[in-house]
Amino acid sequence: MNNDMDNFLVSTRIGTIFLDRNMCIRRFTPVIAQEINLLDADCGRPLAHISHNFRYNGFVEDAKRVLRTLVPEEREIQNQGGKWYSMRVLPYRTSDNVIKGIVLTFVDITELKSANIEMLKLSYAIEQSPSITVIAGLDGTIEYVNPKFTEVTGFEPADAIGGHIRELQHWEGSSVPFTEIWSLLSEGQEWKGELESHSRNGLTYWESVKFLPIKDSEGQTIHYLKIAEDMSERRHTEELLRKSEMLSAVGQLAAGIAHEIRNPLTALKGFTKLLRSGAHNDSYLSIMSAELERIEQIVSELLVLAKPQAVDYLPKSVSSILNDVIMLLDTQAIITNVEIVNEIDDPLPLISCVENQLKQVFINVVKNGVEAMPDGGQLIVRARLAADGMVNIGFIDHGCGIPEKKLARLGEPFYTTKSNGTGLGLMVSYKIIENHQGVMVITSKENVGTAVVIQLPTIS
Ligand code: ADP
Ligand code: MG
Repeated sequence: MNNDMDNFLVSTRIGTIFLDRNMCIRRFTPVIAQEINLLDADCGRPLAHISHNFRYNGFVEDAKRVLRTLVPEEREIQNQGGKWYSMRVLPYRTSDNVIKGIVLTFVDITELKSANIEMLKLSYAIEQSPSITVIAGLDGTIEYVNPKFTEVTGFEPADAIGGHIRELQHWEGSSVPFTEIWSLLSEGQEWKGELESHSRNGLTYWESVKFLPIKDSEGQTIHYLKIAEDMSERRHTEELLRKSEMLSAVGQLAAGIAHEIRNPLTALKGFTKLLRSGAHNDSYLSIMSAELERIEQIVSELLVLAKPQAVDYLPKSVSSILNDVIMLLDTQAIITNVEIVNEIDDPLPLISCVENQLKQVFINVVKNGVEAMPDGGQLIVRARLAADGMVNIGFIDHGCGIPEKKLARLGEPFYTTKSNGTGLGLMVSYKIIENHQGVMVITSKENVGTAVVIQLPTIS
């Protein structure tokens, strides 16, 4: 029995120190001897003599208390080298149940501890992150929301956890359906954009959102992560700028339209006079109704633009949006002898868009092209389906062009080279195209011309 015990003590990896009832060392295992430099000569010495080997000085009290209460205790301590141990203090009973003293066991938990510290650090970072953070399982069930989420939405973790990540967003009228984001995530890819979200008070607010898969070291997705920023304020400002730019564009167009409408009005007046004088001719009437229809079309298009409208994304034909814009802009182009050349493929696959916002972009770009050619010329508007499934829309003018060092400034708010310019057109356009998950690229050469290319995803 004694021999077995000796063998066990020599071979165990658990550091153990035996104390007698007077808190003197009786024996110890080789593991702990090595770690805190115990020598055979230390046997018989009081425990207090070796306690300097640890960054802890409550040993003797702990041991005395356990001896008194016979209740084992456990605590985490560090040796002078910085290693962490889980130390247990137990009463030491002989086989006939006599308490002979105390056993201290030491289990090295350094690795566990540093992993825990690392974990704590990361979890504090997420807990205190200024971004809304949501973690969901592979089926989309919400497993975690951070305090920022609660602060912005008003939903407590208990309200959100267990629900589906899809339900956090307001998908009606969204630029993309949830299924599209979900299939990207399932393929291990990310999605970034702006979405509307619910808050507890029944209101919605805008978020700049990123959905991404969390992968383990083997690249396997283990969770999904949503990081978002409340951007209601920014969105509000953008909306104001967008509206003011739209009103300014409409105002400028109105001047061109007034000019354009005057000729047919004069013609109409002449025909009315002829009719009143008794001259009857069916062709008068058909000319008159064609002129009236055109005036009506132009004016109603202008009114639609000036009126505030819902920002719902709906499936629309990009060809007809472009044609509406060209009809409107033709009135201005004619004044400066610009010919808008229509190279729009029709039909094209539908795109998911806010129609009025896209019109605003196209008006900006066409107007810029017309304004770049004060002495007239051709402005080509081209739209076709590209091999990658996107619609490519090009606006090519042969106007003044943009000097290379100024190209970088395009899209900066209030950057304009025109006396009546707002300098908001391109800024607003970039933003709208981005919200539509598209891209807009401008290339230009001074005194040669400018090409604006807009790519928009189609509904697949
Ligand atoms: P605005 O038209 O009110 O000046 P924009 O944001 O639409 O504001 O355009 C900013 C500036 O970019 C214009 O003032 C002009 O200098 C330049 N620009 C934009 N489009 C063209 C173009 N097609 N040709 C030449 N310059 C352009
Ligand atoms: Mg402009």
